[in-house]
Amino acid sequence: MTNALRHLNRALLPIALGAFATACATAAPARGPYIPAAYAPKVAAAQPMAAADQAADAKFAAFVHDFRATALAAGIKPETYDRSMAGIARNPRVEQANLQQPEFVKPIWEYLDTAVSDKRVATGAQLFAADQPMLEKLHTRFGVPPEYLVAIWGVESNYGDAMGHLNMFEALATLAYDGPRMDFGRKELIAAMKMEERENLDPKQMTSSWAGAFGQTQFVPSSFLTNGVDGDGDGKIDLWHSPADAIASTALLLANAGWKDKEPWGYEVTVPTGFDYADADIDTVKTVAEWKKLGVHKTNGEPFTVLDRPAAIIVPAGARGPAFMVFDDFKTVLKYNNAQSYALAVCLLADRIKGGGSVIASWPRSEMPLTRDERIAFQNDLKKLGYDPGDADGVLGHKVRAAIRAFQKANGLPADGFATQDLLVRVERAIAAKGG
Ligand code: CA
Repeated sequence: MTNALRHLNRALLPIALGAFATACATAAPARGPYIPAAYAPKVAAAQPMAAADQAADAKFAAFVHDFRATALAAGIKPETYDRSMAGIARNPRVEQANLQQPEFVKPIWEYLDTAVSDKRVATGAQLFAADQPMLEKLHTRFGVPPEYLVAIWGVESNYGDAMGHLNMFEALATLAYDGPRMDFGRKELIAAMKMEERENLDPKQMTSSWAGAFGQTQFVPSSFLTNGVDGDGDGKIDLWHSPADAIASTALLLANAGWKDKEPWGYEVTVPTGFDYADADIDTVKTVAEWKKLGVHKTNGEPFTVLDRPAAIIVPAGARGPAFMVFDDFKTVLKYNNAQSYALAVCLLADRIKGGGSVIASWPRSEMPLTRDERIAFQNDLKKLGYDPGDADGVLGHKVRAAIRAFQKANGLPADGFATQDLLVRVERAIAAKGG
């Protein structure tokens, strides 16, 4: 997924699918619904009953009928609405993706294995070399280095291989008529019709993912309306068929989000023994010089070059995994898609496309991911111990991490906020010790 908006809104719970992993919410995402990936997602969908299906069909039909007035009031021509919505039906596949709760959240190292695979690096490097003149022109025009644009193209659609084949109107109307993404679906449905009118598109040719993301860099329609650019100069903006258009639009989106050219995104770093992991948080900013004073250094042994730059340190797999010092452009990638795993994939792929190396430190691959029941147990247990982990929804977001950190600090453990099987055992022991 890509752009500004594919993200629904961060109030929505991350629900699995697509690619991702670690939900971490900091800034409001600029693109669309944040969709963390799960492997083996299990949907708690009971065998749907015919009566329930009939009721849902009726609700969908009523939505398609009633929403026409809303679309027309937003400036959509009646004939556009009618032709876009003709023949569409409630799509069960979209509904399932919209409602599913991941049994497991894919560990970041597994996500990166795919998102930054050797094959994806090699293809990206080839495309990077082959499209140099176009990419350099875009660099000059928008101030975003081409390796990041190619990396986003790679992570979003595997360079155009995986763009989604659903009817966009059917996908968005299914999100819009009912369920947790109604507001997003409605807004994007109208944006899709505006896009159709503006670009003279055939609605039957407008395909997307279940979440309404489309084209080479998986924009959502509203993001297209704001950031769409004709990169190849043929007079049309076509993110499905023109990589140049998709890449140029991504460049504009990043530029609009505040990209700072000529800065690195960050580096892999090593932190000293005794490092206070409570400081390893995207929102804890110190200058490079301050981090250096705390004993942080670049893992590849090179010296820091700019010492007054503000930086955060993140440990996406906890204290046992690699650490990264990240600067403003990393946070700009987060605005594109608000998941640290996603931003890290893009930045690491960009480095490797330019010939840089892989992550040096090892990921804690022996760590078993927590099941949904275990994640919920974690939340309930922390609450029993007097911490505030938020709702017991099985989503390990900001509040849970803060509660975990507080528990770790109170128990003399590295306060990385990372939920592990070991830690769950310790939390349960603490409850038993309390007589709970
Ligand atoms: Ca074009």
